[in-house]
Amino acid sequence: GATIGILGGGQLGRMLATAAAELGLSVHIYCPDTDPPAAAVAAGTTIAPYEDAEALARFAAAVDVVTYEFENVPVSAVEGLGDRVRPGPRALEVAQDRLTEKAFLAECGLPVAPHRGVSSPEEIAGALTDLGGVGILKTRRMGYDGKGQVRLVPGVDVARAFASIGEVPAIVEALVPFDAETSTVLARGADGRTAAYTAPANEHSEGILRRSTVPGPLTAGLEAEAQRLTADVAEALGYVGVLAIEWFVTGDPANPLVANEMAPRVHNTGHWTQDAAVTSQFENHIRAIAGWPLGSTARTADAVMLNLIGHDADDWQRHLDTAGAKLHLYGKRDTRPGRKMGHVNVLSRGVDFRAGG
Ligand code: ATP
Ligand code: MG
Ligand code: MG
Repeated sequence: GATIGILGGGQLGRMLATAAAELGLSVHIYCPDTDPPAAAVAAGTTIAPYEDAEALARFAAAVDVVTYEFENVPVSAVEGLGDRVRPGPRALEVAQDRLTEKAFLAECGLPVAPHRGVSSPEEIAGALTDLGGVGILKTRRMGYDGKGQVRLVPGVDVARAFASIGEVPAIVEALVPFDAETSTVLARGADGRTAAYTAPANEHSEGILRRSTVPGPLTAGLEAEAQRLTADVAEALGYVGVLAIEWFVTGDPANPLVANEMAPRVHNTGHWTQDAAVTSQFENHIRAIAGWPLGSTARTADAVMLNLIGHDADDWQRHLDTAGAKLHLYGKRDTRPGRKMGHVNVLSRGVDFRAGG
């Protein structure tokens, strides 16, 4: 069978490699970090910096198609691999910069929060005034799990806020008052066909996803709208693979869905699909990049996905005998606060997926 190359060796790479193995495909991981979680389930692993052009070229020669599981892989590394990378470098480039990303999503017809690009305390103060006195300051690049973000309230010390994110180019976003958060995880095949999963209710604390529940908060009409808009983004990028859009659900009939951000990869809010969908997001990503037809995204059960973050995972054994619980651990040795160590999918009522829904 074919060999799939994955840039990045974290838990997403690990779960992609497992899905590939189940389809009879092998995976070769390329990543700069020692002891990557994905290495344990991959047929091969190269540990080298993304800037090492020779190592990258050897990796590329050993695989049939390349994908990435981490959106901060340098675009230059991906461009050097030519057209064997799915999704392509444009998706990565857009998703790496919050300002570019918002402009692109808006161009595709997705409502986004009012925002301003800023690179000084004076600009932050001006943006905050424009946006009504409250907002969130975020680094344009490299943020994830709420890192590089700070809330701005009236009277805030803007110089201190700027210092706290490292005085790098940033964005100030208006605070979106939301009833719920959700996400559309959508697969697009090499033939341009798309299939999307039920959008869950996503709960965060301290900027990190804690829990995703399906069915989620969207009416059938909004679900269809979110899927249509996500497909538009995928189409505009000529995207092949799994793409996620995170949404705020506002409760405002005039503007019910506001896009927060995109992820050009499989997504934490799609982990429930491993145990409660006919085809998981990981399998569908592999199918798409391998040029295979997509599998059914139909949901087979109601489910709650609980992230095991930091010391949440210390007593992982307790999930082994919980009715309906399926435990997934990432094999990470060091427990650190805020580090994603695993997740549990807790299934409840079964759904007759043949009837739809
Ligand atoms: P990840 O990529 O891991 O999802 P991130 O670091 O890119 O995280 P964001 O998605 O930008 O972070 O923000 C994390 C969370 O903070 C959001 O899911 C939401 O709960 C809250 N948040 C972010 N931006 C806004 C906003 N403009 N208005 C209201 N809440 C927000
Ligand atoms: Mg993000
Ligand atoms: Mg996010």
